[in-house]
Amino acid sequence: MDQVKIGRFIAECRKKADLTQMQLAEKLNITDRAVSKWETGRAMPDSSIMLALCDILGISVTDLLCGEVVSMENNNKELETKLLESLREKEKADRRLLRMEIVTGILCLPVLLGCVLLAELLALPEWQKVLIVLGGLLPLLIATPFMIRIEQVAGYYECAHCKARHVPKYSSVFGAMHFGRTRYMKCPSCGKRSWQKKFTTKE
Ligand SMILES: [Zn+2]
Repeated sequence: MDQVKIGRFIAECRKKADLTQMQLAEKLNITDRAVSKWETGRAMPDSSIMLALCDILGISVTDLLCGEVVSMENNNKELETKLLESLREKEKADRRLLRMEIVTGILCLPVLLGCVLLAELLALPEWQKVLIVLGGLLPLLIATPFMIRIEQVAGYYECAHCKARHVPKYSSVFGAMHFGRTRYMKCPSCGKRSWQKKFTTKE
């Protein structure tokens, strides 16, 4: 999606509606900084306020996503294209996140190994060696909640029984036994427990 084009279109529609950034922000219960971010193409309006925004600007969601007024006969086709586009964008972002998680894990290991090695080699009192090893564990401890968060939000888990794909809660990912990305969790659709595999697509 062309955020700069969409931003320019939002600004144009806002001026047509005779509203300042501040007035538009107040109607939507957000800050005028958020409006300014959309209009300069640095951010997209949140999906939760998109309908209200379009209502105020007198345009359709398709118009907004296309960054221009789309004729009625092209409306459905354009909307489908935009939907597919945003799905693909989410899949791409998910894959990026999952790769980042692997890299983070790999980067933490040499630090830990280095500290263990250092503690072995240096002639230090026992308690200082323990401190060095604990220090080596620190990056991993700090990174773990982020990595679990990525596991939760990026992609979908598939139930082995009913094949439904879902995004689990943070708590169920946190507590679940896992082998790589495959996790033992309860399925929200059929309620059965199984080893659920990770996929980057919804279907
Ligand atoms: Zn299921």
